[in-house]
Amino acid sequence: MKIVIVGGVTGGMSAATRLRRQMEDTEIIVFDKGPYVSFANCGLPFHVSGEIEKRSSLLVQTPERLKARFELDVRPETEVLAIDPDLKEVTVRTKCETYTESYDKLILSPGAKPFVPPMEGLNEATNVFTLRNIPDLDKIMAQLKHTTSGQATVIGAGFIGLEMAESLAKKGINVTLIEKAPHVLPPLDEEMAAFIEAELVQNGIKVITGQSAQVFKDNGKILVMEDGSELESDLTILSVGVQPENNLAKDAGVELGLRGGILVDENYQTNLADIYAVGDAIVVEN
Ligand SMILES: Cc1cc2nc3c(=O)[nH]c(=O)nc-3n(C[C@H](O)[C@H](O)[C@H](O)COP(=O)(O)OP(=O)(O)OC[C@H]3O[C@@H](n4cnc5c(N)ncnc54)[C@H](O)[C@@H]3O)c2cc1C
Repeated sequence: MKIVIVGGVTGGMSAATRLRRQMEDTEIIVFDKGPYVSFANCGLPFHVSGEIEKRSSLLVQTPERLKARFELDVRPETEVLAIDPDLKEVTVRTKCETYTESYDKLILSPGAKPFVPPMEGLNEATNVFTLRNIPDLDKIMAQLKHTTSGQATVIGAGFIGLEMAESLAKKGINVTLIEKAPHVLPPLDEEMAAFIEAELVQNGIKVITGQSAQVFKDNGKILVMEDGSELESDLTILSVGVQPENNLAKDAGVELGLRGGILVDENYQTNLADIYAVGDAIVVEN
């Protein structure tokens, strides 16, 4: 049996290690297009604040250690470009070559990418970042070196936006949090969100709700709000939601569901034989 997994972080690596514990003789190959696998995504904001002091603490595993401990064949910086469900093979690309790899079972765990709205001036902005992985974190940390006494803006008051606002405030930076919905953490009831907003304000964060940021000016240094007012920002975090990484699945003929998530049944199987999916990219009955 040969199992190929797309995505080597939360869902992909959990599947790989669990499968190894259940099937000692199976060949398991894990591809990830990024340079790091099995890193601590949930810890990323806490390195910004300094609560997780060392960047290396975020790197939970390496391909070498995963090979030694679980006999996993982990291939970072290798993007899966296409799936051929009839031939049961994937086409992958590294920096040096493109090749195919066959599978008996394929597990997709490509995750979700930050949603980036088409905002005027965003392409020219040099200080606007999203946060999903270690390379994103590295860019934010580099920008922070120029921001220590300055002004940061977080656009979007969902979970990641709130964590980033808190982390930046803990570093002593003036933070403005902008949320288009009438209150922070939009999925919560207004009465509940009021407590969170009060806590944010008490910790020195300026909260603007019911209004969106519309335009970036001066390479991102100025943000123009819906009402025409302007904000200065040395560092802006864009955290306005995520969308499933569904292109690979879609191109292969995998059925998608709500908001483009990969549709799976109660066994996490897609509509295509021997192709399963887990994690942020899927839609599952709940
Ligand atoms: C800053 C931050 C904080 C978070 N905090 C929390 C928290 O506190 N609690 C919580 O429950 N959740 C939290 N989450 C969410 C949690 O990280 C995700 O739910 C989880 O990582 C989803 O796992 P996944 O395997 O679906 O995707 P990911 O962990 O994102 O892994 C997907 C991987 O697939 C790779 N990939 C995609 N397409 C391809 C391809 N074609 N070829 C090769 N590789 C590919 C990507 O490079 C990526 O590394 C946080 C997320 C972030 C970004």
